[in-house]
Amino acid sequence: MSANIHSQPIQIQANWQAELSQSFTSIDRLLDYLNLDPNQLNISPAAISEFPLRVPRSFAQRMEPGNPLDPLLAQVLPVAAEMQSMPGYSLDPLHEADHNPAPGIVHKYSNRLLLIVSPSCAINCRYCFRRHFPYQENRQSKQQWRQAIDYIAKAKEINEVIFSGGDPLAANDNFLGWLCEQIAAIPHIKRLRIHTRLPVVIPSRIDEGFLRWASSTRLKPLVVLHINHGNEINLQVTEAVQRMTNLGIRVMNQTVLLKGVNDNAETLAQLSEKLFDIGAMPYYLHLLDQVQGASHFDIPQHFAQNIYADLQTRLPGFLVPRLVREVAGEKSKTLIC
Ligand SMILES: *Cc1c(COP(=O)(O)O)cnc(C)c1O
Ligand code: SF4
Repeated sequence: MSANIHSQPIQIQANWQAELSQSFTSIDRLLDYLNLDPNQLNISPAAISEFPLRVPRSFAQRMEPGNPLDPLLAQVLPVAAEMQSMPGYSLDPLHEADHNPAPGIVHKYSNRLLLIVSPSCAINCRYCFRRHFPYQENRQSKQQWRQAIDYIAKAKEINEVIFSGGDPLAANDNFLGWLCEQIAAIPHIKRLRIHTRLPVVIPSRIDEGFLRWASSTRLKPLVVLHINHGNEINLQVTEAVQRMTNLGIRVMNQTVLLKGVNDNAETLAQLSEKLFDIGAMPYYLHLLDQVQGASHFDIPQHFAQNIYADLQTRLPGFLVPRLVREVAGEKSKTLIC
């Protein structure tokens, strides 16, 4: 492996599905690749059996070999702290199970709703609030998708549909193109938003198949990426974003504030600067959802507010993401300021 991650050749013909299947799923292989000793890292086999390890090679390439504290590694490392049960941390902190009016739908906010398009992800992020979501119940047939589409067609207050998951771009483009067409046929829907981490962890996902349906729909497309640290942005990610923006797809980014990953203003300011450089606008900075197994990433709110005040002094206003928390039962994200 090259020590300088930015000098790697561009894989123009890379096939994202092949890359996905070559992801690291063995902790020993990953640590061996990174020149790290598993005994130094407090790895938990129980955590792995609860939520498997999954790391695309492209993402692992951006980690610094030999660094047990690498901020990208910290996001995927299954450690013993995950198995502590903490008061206040639950399996479904956002009560999503209460907002499933039709299969595959999470409808909590008035004029926009989530479609759980794909149950799986290309990477398993240890802090994820979806780690306990009953995805199997949300894996569905085309007939069930029609029920979801009927629900949207009847709900006239909705003007935006959000492809979510899991990671929606883990689904294939034939299916996504079909779903997009069904939604575009509903006159009151204006926007299609795609919440995805795939273009970050496997940039070759932004291929012709994706661009064809995403840029030819009548719906105004918007992609919201999920990047937590500037080191996640390399040349391939930059090019993937450019392929989208060149075709008029707007690109934004959300970040989760994570202890040991990005818990200081300097790191967050660098991330915003890099995002702007590649053509993506910062959107949200989320406080961690209190999901069981993620408490070791938590930053107390008052501490987050200090970081945020510092961040505001370092950036123009348009590069400061909105600091938010999700409060179960609320009609929008809750702004923290
Ligand atoms: C976050 C979220 C949305 C989108 O909220 P925006 O503030 O519009 O980005 C929609 N539905 C659910 C259930 C959400 O959690
Ligand atoms: S939903 Fe997003 S944050 Fe959660 S595991 Fe998948 S890619 Fe990671």
